[in-house]
Parts: sequence; C-alpha cells; structure tokens
Amino acid sequence: MMKHAVVIAGGGPTGLMLAAELALARVDVAIVERRANQDLAGSRAGGLHCRTIEVLDQRGIAERFLSQGKVMQVAGFAMNPLDISDFPTRHNYGLALWQDRIERILAAWVDGLPVTIYRAREVTGFAQDDTGVDIEVSEGGSLRAAYLVGCDGGRSLVRKKAGIDFPGWDPSVSYLIAEVEMAEEPAWGIRLGERGVNALGKLEDGKRVRVVLIEPHVMPGDQPTLDDLRAALIAVYGTHYGVHNVTWLSRFTDTTRQAASYRVGRVLLAGDAAHVHSPAGGQGLNIGVQDAVNLGWKLAQVVSGISPESLLDTYQAERHPIGARVLQTSMAQTALNRGDERTKALRETVSDLLKMDGPRKQYAAMMSGLDIRYDLGAGHPLLGRRMPDIDLVTDHGPRRAFTLLHAARPVLLNLGEPGALDTASSPWAERVRRVDARYAGVWELPVLGAVAAPTAVLIRPDGHVAWVADGSDRGLRNALTTWFGPPHPGRSDVPLP
Ligand SMILES: Cc1cc2nc3c(=O)[nH]c(=O)nc-3n(C[C@H](O)[C@H](O)[C@H](O)COP(=O)(O)OP(=O)(O)OC[C@H]3O[C@@H](n4cnc5c(N)ncnc54)[C@H](O)[C@@H]3O)c2cc1C
Repeated sequence: MMKHAVVIAGGGPTGLMLAAELALARVDVAIVERRANQDLAGSRAGGLHCRTIEVLDQRGIAERFLSQGKVMQVAGFAMNPLDISDFPTRHNYGLALWQDRIERILAAWVDGLPVTIYRAREVTGFAQDDTGVDIEVSEGGSLRAAYLVGCDGGRSLVRKKAGIDFPGWDPSVSYLIAEVEMAEEPAWGIRLGERGVNALGKLEDGKRVRVVLIEPHVMPGDQPTLDDLRAALIAVYGTHYGVHNVTWLSRFTDTTRQAASYRVGRVLLAGDAAHVHSPAGGQGLNIGVQDAVNLGWKLAQVVSGISPESLLDTYQAERHPIGARVLQTSMAQTALNRGDERTKALRETVSDLLKMDGPRKQYAAMMSGLDIRYDLGAGHPLLGRRMPDIDLVTDHGPRRAFTLLHAARPVLLNLGEPGALDTASSPWAERVRRVDARYAGVWELPVLGAVAAPTAVLIRPDGHVAWVADGSDRGLRNALTTWFGPPHPGRSDVPLP
C-alpha cells in the first residue's frame, strides 16, 4: 500500500492548487484524478477575479495566466459591471481565460513540484481511524494517508462517504450550454427570458455558436441530448435555427448547497465539494482556489507536527462564511436576472444603487474577493485582511511584498528599527521568515482607503495579516504561537521550507 501524508481526491482547479501549496511546504502529497488528462468537456469558468490573480502572484505564477488571457474588468453583480480600476491593487482588473486553460497552467506548475498524480483513477471509498485514512482507489489498490481532502467537485464522493450534510436549495432553473453550428442566422446576443438570461454568441471562427439557454423545465442530469437543445431553443426563440454539428453540450443548474462541515476528523473538503451554486458572478473556481490557499499551509503544519490539529478548525471558521456569502449573492443574482416586469424594476433599482460610489466599491470588492477579512479579533484594519503588495526597500534591494510569499511560508515583516522583533520571534526563526524593510508610502485598502502605517506585520502564507505591531512586540508571541505552533526550544529545528 502506497503511503502519502495527504491524498487529494480530484485534480481540478482546487485540488491542483492545494497539491501545490502542500508540495511547497514539503508535504508528501498525491492527487487521485478520474480524468486521464486535464482536458475538460465543455467550457466552465470564464476567468479569474482580482484576488485570485493576487493569490497566484503571491506564488510568483500570475504572469503565466495573465500572458494567456485577456485582462479586463470582469466583476459584476446582476449584470451590472463593477469597475475596480481605481482599487489599490497591482491587479486592478480581472482576467478572461477559460477554465481548461487555467487548469492546464496549474497542472504544468504542479508538474514541476514534487506531487504524485494517479491519473485515470478514482477514489471509491475510504475508512479513517485515529492515525490516518485508508483510501480505496479504482483499478484495485489502496492508499494510506494522514489526511484525505475531497476536491472532487459538486457530486463529491468524499463528502457523501464522510456523511457530511449538504443542505441548501434544489434548482429553480436548468441551463443548457453548448457549442454548435446553426443553418440559419440566429438572434445574436443576450435575450432575457422570464426566468433568466439566454445568450447566443459567435465564436472566433465566425461559424460556430456558443449557446447558453434556459430550459422550459428544470431537467436532471448533466448529459442532455440534441432534442433537449432543440426544445429549449424553440421555447426561447420560436425556432431551433437548424442546430447541428454539436461540439459539446452540457447542463448546469442553480442548485445551491454548502457542506455543513468542511472537516470530519481526518477528512476535509474544499472547492465545489464544499459548495455549489449558480455560476452567476463567476465565483466557484475562484473561491475553490482560495479555499486551497487557506487550507494548504494549515494542513502542512499539522501533518508536520508543527501545529495542533485545532489549527484546521480555523479553515472551517474562515472559509465557511465566505462560501455562505457566495451562495447568497449567487442566489440573489439568479433572482435579479429574471425577466418579468417586477424583477426588471428591482434590477434597475439595484443598478441605480450600484452606480453610487460607495455601493459600487463595496460590491466590487466583494465580487473580486478583495474585501475578505478573517475574524482575528479587534484591532488594526489590516488584521485578518490581505496584505497589500507594497513596494518595499530591503537590504537586498527593492522587493514587492508578494515576492516574500513565493515560498508559501510565513513572513514577519519589520518596518521599524532593524532587528527590533528578533528577540520575541527567535524561537520561530526556522519557521517564520524575518524581513527588515522600509516603506514610506501610503497603506491603502480596498473600500476602507488609507489606514495607519504599521511598524510591523506578521503575514500568513495565504497572504492574510495575523498580527499588526502597535510600535512594540506586544501580542507577537501569542500570534506566532496561534498560527505557527508553540515555541519548541528543541524544535526550532523543524523548519518550514
Ligand atoms: C457553466 C459554468 C460556468 C462557470 N463559470 C464560472 C466562472 O466564470 N468563474 C468561476 O470562478 N467559476 C465558474 N464556474 C464554476 C467552476 O467551474 C467550478 O467552481 C470549479 O471547476 C470548481 O473546481 P473544483 O476543483 O473544486 O471542482 P471540479 O472542477 O469539479 O474538479 C473536480 C475534479 O475531481 C475529479 N473527480 C471527481 N470525483 C472523483 C473521484 N471520486 N476520484 C478522483 N477524481 C474525482 C474530477 O474529474 C475533476 O477533475 C462555472 C461552472 C459552470 C458549470
């Protein structure tokens, strides 16, 4: 039986990102993936929001994505575009890039890291005990791991077998999405129907059509037929335009559900396995990747014996509310996208509100993932929020703050007297990278604007600020212990990479 510290079921965007995070932390990690390669049947996510680009930038790989996609304003709410070009971030935009490309870039990154991938294999079951999890894999054989993470999508076998409830709402609408040819010229563009948005768009070759259509009735299953497509076209447009030569055709719904718990013992969930919702707002892939970045370093520290298992409770505490919020905003958008007159009036009212600067900023920050604040208690506005990518001056020259996070290890950034925090932080010296730097600019956060300049910050590997200095080292040891394990006089030789 092969053994790994962590086995991840599913190598979609979430599983790939998590595997990379664990590998960067030198954890022996394996992915079991059903697909033989990274090919996707049909299109899914159409791009990345700002915070996801930032997260990739924190690992030094944002350029790989930016160079293949189209930088543009992608955030929006209920069909109202939300411009973030005035936001204080280096990436004050989103990226249009199809999911298959996103996955390929992630997979190529993972290929260069020490990650074992069992392809064309499925997790078929598991049993956990006090010390680990036995994982059954198709084609015979089994794996043993200290932890199993289900990144196996909305129909997650891991979630079901772990007995984790998935409460929420059944679909109110089902959509067909396809790439086809049409014998007749269709009505291009968006057509609002009673229950939402239909769209026919010309593909790059000028011949083929991308179709997104609401079905007359909520239909089950993800393998619709050409007849289903014809019926839906007739219901919306009165004709099926001689649809033929279907490259791919699939169905999605606005089913909205969230796992009641993200962890049961040694089994965890992330990404679509933990939350499903309508694609309205384009959040699913983005929050899956961000789940992975929140979980990766915590799980790495737990399996390495640096932190107690209770650190994993913060994954649920921090990410469950984010998932719940996405469920809520996607349901609100599904409702607002309906085409009846009353909903239209409501949508126009919301639209007027979002033209005002305050609401625009608030919603733009939410939809682009820039407003996330984990509840780490009261204090400086930076506490629990993302570290901005400020331009620092260090003894080794200028450095962007994000470059300090490339290795996915914690950073104690001292902006005061050089060495001022060395005494308090020395028991963690092997685990937490200490950087003395200078920064004379403004500290500006999305929505909040300028905030008081701190003299030091403790930055978690996911880029969130875990401690802010008030001119002294008060609270630093506590924060270091909470997030990066207790000081072990004889154990500071257990370094993170
Ligand atoms: C039409 C549509 C449009 C969308 N648009 C957007 C958008 O614009 N922006 C956005 O952010 N999101 C969007 N999404 C959502 C996005 O596609 C998902 O949220 C994202 O794919 C979730 O990633 P994941 O890795 O968690 O799960 P998945 O992508 O579902 O990956 C799960 C992986 O697990 C594998 N697997 C499943 N079961 C097993 C098993 N038992 N053993 C081994 N492997 C297994 C699968 O083969 C798959 O590779 C859209 C979705 C749809 C359907």
